[in-house]
Amino acid sequence: MEIIFATSNPHKVREVGAILGENFKLILPSELGITEDIPETGSTLEENALQKCLYIWNRLHKPVFSDDSGLEVDCLNGAPGIHTARYAGEDKDPEKNIDKLLATLEGVKNRKARFRTAIAYIDANGEHHITEGIMPGEIALRREGSGGFGYDPVFIPQGHGGLTFAQLGVDVKNRISHRSQAVAKFTDFLRKANSGQHV
Ligand code: IMP
Repeated sequence: MEIIFATSNPHKVREVGAILGENFKLILPSELGITEDIPETGSTLEENALQKCLYIWNRLHKPVFSDDSGLEVDCLNGAPGIHTARYAGEDKDPEKNIDKLLATLEGVKNRKARFRTAIAYIDANGEHHITEGIMPGEIALRREGSGGFGYDPVFIPQGHGGLTFAQLGVDVKNRISHRSQAVAKFTDFLRKANSGQHV
């Protein structure tokens, strides 16, 4: 089955492509002549993921999915959320983002947080579907570890020995992360839908 992945991020394409397997051929918007930045102006991760799908669907009327992730910190009432990538500014600098987060949480005891990924999918009939993955955890007091990307050095996933995503390494992280959970649910959904099972 051919399915469009509304992203321009090659890391995501590799990760999701490997999980979906050979039965699904991922096509990128750029391969179909859509090279502009797709707008993300929603007020939730789900809205943003769906908005990216609709942008493609309205032009091509073909099955399309997209993902959006964010870090939600309890004591910040769920911020940075949809602003996770741009938390410290439009340049989306991960080091500045971490600096801002650590400074904001300085002296704060409740450091509970979670990473969340929403995947939106519009099927061949134009129906919308959402799956999500959640990784609860907490924000470390300082950077620990050197693997991964983004906030990995300061995010400690629950139930993994108090180590950050960056310390756990990419293989462990990819087995447990919010993104891999959301992709696994989405894959399951697609397999069932394609085998004619009611989903
Ligand atoms: P995106 O929607 O997947 O591009 O994620 C938005 C932002 O969340 C990214 O720019 C990263 O800063 C952050 N982020 C998402 N997933 C992760 C992760 O697994 N580890 C660390 N940071 C992440």
